[in-house]
Amino acid sequence: MSGPARGNILISVEECKGCGLCVESCPPECLLLLPELNAYGVHPAHYTGQGCTGCGICFYCCPEPGAITVYRLAPPHKPLAQGDSHAAAL
Ligand code: SF4
Ligand code: SF4
Repeated sequence: MSGPARGNILISVEECKGCGLCVESCPPECLLLLPELNAYGVHPAHYTGQGCTGCGICFYCCPEPGAITVYRLAPPHKPLAQGDSHAAAL
């Protein structure tokens, strides 16, 4: 995926039950199940660290209320160009 990431997520390894619904539902396919086991003896979901759009689909499909937190990132700051109305006012 090109361009800066628009979202980020945190997954609580100990809340995750390893059902894989988030992995299957993520449109840019940026989630996977870790080979390691958590305290429940399941393979927890993991964000690969790239490609999240902040769509929130993983959050809405997850049956565990505390397992996924989604962050929508602010768009990168675009400097005002000479001639922009805001720039002229400064
Ligand atoms: S917020 Fe959307 S893009 Fe990001 S990990 Fe969840 S399903 Fe994937
Ligand atoms: S949907 Fe929730 S419980 Fe299922 S694997 Fe993803 S984070 Fe874990």
